[in-house]
Amino acid sequence: MADILDTEIKYLTGIGPKRAETLAKEINVHSFRDMLYYFPFRWIDKSRVYPISSIASEQIFDGEEAPGPTSSYVQIRGIVTHKEAAGFINGRPVKGKSRLIITLKDATGTIDLVFFSGLKWISEKLRQGEEYIAFGRPTMFNNQINMVHPEIYSPSEALNYGTGSMAGIYSITEKMKNGGFGIKTIMKIQSLLLDKVQDHIKETLPDDILNTYKLCPLAQALRNIHFPVGQKELEAAQRRLKFEELFYLQLSLLKQKNARLAKGSGIMMLNVGEKFNACYHTLPYSLTNAQKRVIREMREDMRSGKQMNRLLQGDVGSGKTLVAVLLSLIAVDNGYQACIMAPTEVLANQHLTSITKFLKATNVKVALLTGSTKAKERKQILGSLEEGSIDIIVGTHALLEPRVKFRALGLAIIDEQHRFGVDQRSKLWSKNNNTQTSLAPHVMVMTATPIPRTLAMTLYGDLDVSIIDELPPGRTPVVTKHAWESERQQVFNFMRQQIDSGRQVFVVYPLIKESEKMDYENLEAGYMRIVEEFKAPQYITAVVHGKLKPEDKDIDMQLFASGKADILVATSVIEVGVDVPNASIMVIESAERFGLSQLHQLRGRVGRGANKSFCILMSGYKLSKESKKRLELMCSTTDGFLLAEEDMKMRGPGDIEGTSQSGLAIDLHIASLSRDGVFLQQARLAAEAVLNQDPLLISAKNKILTDRLRQLRHDGKDIKDYSAIS
Ligand code: ADP
Ligand code: MG
Repeated sequence: MADILDTEIKYLTGIGPKRAETLAKEINVHSFRDMLYYFPFRWIDKSRVYPISSIASEQIFDGEEAPGPTSSYVQIRGIVTHKEAAGFINGRPVKGKSRLIITLKDATGTIDLVFFSGLKWISEKLRQGEEYIAFGRPTMFNNQINMVHPEIYSPSEALNYGTGSMAGIYSITEKMKNGGFGIKTIMKIQSLLLDKVQDHIKETLPDDILNTYKLCPLAQALRNIHFPVGQKELEAAQRRLKFEELFYLQLSLLKQKNARLAKGSGIMMLNVGEKFNACYHTLPYSLTNAQKRVIREMREDMRSGKQMNRLLQGDVGSGKTLVAVLLSLIAVDNGYQACIMAPTEVLANQHLTSITKFLKATNVKVALLTGSTKAKERKQILGSLEEGSIDIIVGTHALLEPRVKFRALGLAIIDEQHRFGVDQRSKLWSKNNNTQTSLAPHVMVMTATPIPRTLAMTLYGDLDVSIIDELPPGRTPVVTKHAWESERQQVFNFMRQQIDSGRQVFVVYPLIKESEKMDYENLEAGYMRIVEEFKAPQYITAVVHGKLKPEDKDIDMQLFASGKADILVATSVIEVGVDVPNASIMVIESAERFGLSQLHQLRGRVGRGANKSFCILMSGYKLSKESKKRLELMCSTTDGFLLAEEDMKMRGPGDIEGTSQSGLAIDLHIASLSRDGVFLQQARLAAEAVLNQDPLLISAKNKILTDRLRQLRHDGKDIKDYSAIS
């Protein structure tokens, strides 16, 4: 029987093909189901009408210091006392200037409502002397509070739009607005849709799970998420829908893992041979116990006859590279090749350097393949890989290109996984188009981002996990201090003192897309200031950032790595792994702009040698409460896991650095990996319970689950189904 929820959204009364296109493009809504799952992102108590005079007061701004873009939506009610069109010359609108200002007055005061588009329509609709309800977000402009493009209802209209109860706020893109989709329209659509399908919504969770976890039925949840009659009902709906998402996410991950294990076959690597031993016995230090343990764990996987899929978690500096090398050698000793993939060229280069050092005593052939490998060399490398004369290939995303083929890829290692999506991982899975075996290579993912357990089991829910929980001996914890801009001279003096005693210094600038231009200007200015302060030839300053040509980047990187440069000014690209043991100071500029995990990563760049090391967090004068807390926390602990937990708590709705959900098997619409840890645990348990009885979900009883899984994976437009090859 066809499911009414699969109906295309264009068939809903009042939508049609044109508007359907907008919905598809802007919010990925194609069907009735998609629309119903387009949830409000917050809910307002619309039973409350604020006195206009109170709007500027703190209570409605959630205690924020000043009204800003994040302040709350409020509802006000008043009479139109004044209408004024501005920004017109000779009756013609001046582009970007024309606007309509409507003054609304209640018993306590007045406020201006400002409109920039649809002026004629609004002006006709809002009649002088009549009463209206306005619903919007107060903003500050010219030192005056006003409300830009609020939703407007006449008191009689308001009754149809949830006024008097809880009302949802949907996120609306600019293009949606232009295409006629305001919050009000979306509400109308949802209301229409719910009335139409309410009796046809099929339950998506089995009864026993609903009972065990006390969840409300789907139909009820969907109504209450859009039109909750009260807080309690809203919470029940959220709980149910979050649980469902997380449950299916876990189910999908665990089922995948079961499928992989059931298929069984993996390349059997029984030897620990000559090359492994040659490397092992010439190491300048002995392995830490944690390194030994994780190597043992993975060796077991690699000889088990099943495909290894393992996550190696270890704080910065814990020695993951060496582990990667030794495991690669196991592959080589068994007649296979290995590849090590890094997220950036700088890192790939660095890996090559350290790996080559480790392999001095062996005759293992290593090569590097990145986006900037020259055509001629590339051709040669590709040939050698296919023919098998290269044992270990180090590289970037370039390794994923289809033309990269191996004779026999036995182990694929991905460094700093959080930059790679699941689908990218799966490309490596399928790389083995070799002649010797048709089996997928073993896969090891390394991450230095300590992530909380709840998060790990989602992001890597289909992987086994090994943890290096110990740093090599002789490291002294990095001393971390916060410094204000006004203390810059002292910071420079301190840098000079360290450099004079032979150390090197990192100076890192934030760089994000949204403010790229300004960020580069800051870096440039900072670099000039340093060159001015630390004059050549006595002091050499290197600089590395994304705008430089790869060659120039390389030269400066080499200058610093080889100890010839004293200072390296860089963007946060160096965050993920550059190893310069002689560097003892990390200066982080605009530190308040980094998240805790990122700060921790950056700090991990120093303190790798025997010298006492320092991390200086620079910031301007104004710090929000949260930034202050973050910087204080950084100064007080070097425990990466603790910082990750705190990061997750503080960051609220945002996801932890680098763990955005792109790459999740199922899109999350409502659940948050960082905030819904409790539901996540429950969902995991529930999924485990189901799969314990029916590992591959083949019983008839579980059809409801496989149906929904299929639906979800289909809906998550990004999902690449790699069960086919795993
Ligand atoms: P990660 O990649 O985990 O951040 P690296 O692999 O870059 O860490 O290792 C950091 C530094 O520690 C490197 O200089 C490496 O040579 C060194 N190292 C690795 N293992 C040991 C060990 N067992 N004892 C001493 N130093 C080690
Ligand atoms: Mg590393």
